[in-house]
Amino acid sequence: MYDVAIIGGGPAGLAAGLYGARSNLKVLIIERGLPGGQMQNTLDIENYPGFKHILGPDLSAHMHQQTVELGVEWKTGEVTGVQLEGQPKVLQVGSEEVQAKAVIIASGALPKYLEVPGEKEFQGRGVSYCATCDGAFFKGKHVFVVGGGDSAVEEGMFLTQYAAKVSVLVRRDTLKAQPYLQERAFKNPKMEFVWNTVVEEILGEGKVTGVRVRNTVDGTTEVLEGDGVFVYIGFYPNSTFLQGTGVLNDSGYVITDAKMATAIPGVFAAGDVRDTPMRQIVTASADGAVAAMSAFEYIQSL
Ligand code: FAD
Ligand code: NAP
Repeated sequence: MYDVAIIGGGPAGLAAGLYGARSNLKVLIIERGLPGGQMQNTLDIENYPGFKHILGPDLSAHMHQQTVELGVEWKTGEVTGVQLEGQPKVLQVGSEEVQAKAVIIASGALPKYLEVPGEKEFQGRGVSYCATCDGAFFKGKHVFVVGGGDSAVEEGMFLTQYAAKVSVLVRRDTLKAQPYLQERAFKNPKMEFVWNTVVEEILGEGKVTGVRVRNTVDGTTEVLEGDGVFVYIGFYPNSTFLQGTGVLNDSGYVITDAKMATAIPGVFAAGDVRDTPMRQIVTASADGAVAAMSAFEYIQSL
């Protein structure tokens, strides 16, 4: 029986592990992949306080090592089912069951991919899913943003701080983004909207040089030249194993209060899987710390 079982070993789960262990709790992190979560796929991190630059895999290793030294246990496996009401909480990991007094859900979210030729090849070489992380690499350049929702419009405007021109490629003739964002974006002289347009291929040689697009109305294709492609077509929260528990909103994100508590006593959530306005390493880590302290208080009250 663990005090706390943490689902996911990204920055949210690792920070929760750190704070849990420092409160003398018996902590287990269950992770289906490598320690570090999405940080493992991020080459350059330049916005995590304390490091002007650090490689994602290096920051992952530092965070993981810190938890190991404090006695946090690690289990490789995927949580496929949960029994969260009452005591103990039970997690299904493969053919095994893990029991804990409290659970912290830190399973993250994954950006949706365009799934067109060139996307994988140029990831980190012009193709990005994070303007906050990579925008500064595109000073004075022409970048494309794909999508028509809040993220595409908001992140597109963020990119105008750096880029000379931001062309938003929208698959319909209207945006899905909230009206106030649309209004601001239409007033921004660096923003251009290319309507009824889908990306068929990302082009480049070593790095991105443009996109081949198709007009969805007349079917014509053309090549647009540019230096970067920011894909903002939605995210998938890693929360299918929570369906039916009542802790998810309509988009599949976990609803919490400011103490990271869900509607179920003893169940907390942290990081990108949460319904949250910002998805970054620093915010995920901070959530993890709060969740661990809330779990500690909950266990004390049992
Ligand atoms: P994640 O990092 O997604 O970790 C969740 C973990 O849970 C994963 O390891 C996953 O394998 C595991 N998991 C999921 N489901 C299960 C399950 N059922 N059972 C067991 N394990 C499970 N942020 C920055 O601050 N700076 C950057 O420079 C930056 N660059 C980025 C670049 C890219 C390409 C992307 C996609 C994101 C970037 N971000 C950056 C955002 C940042 O990586 C995330 O906000 C952060 O990793 C979220 O942390 P998390 O712990 O909530 O989730
Ligand atoms: P989203 O709301 O799901 O929007 C995705 C957008 O991408 C839609 O415009 C969609 O087109 C388009 N799209 C999907 N697949 C595509 C494809 N293959 N090619 C081209 N375009 C494609 O995702 P999001 O913008 O990331 O927002 C996610 C959630 O976070 C939303 O609830 C949003 O309100 C919230 N959010 C809020 C704020 C804020 O309040 N400031 C900021 C960011 C995000 P269609 O329009 O045709 O469906």
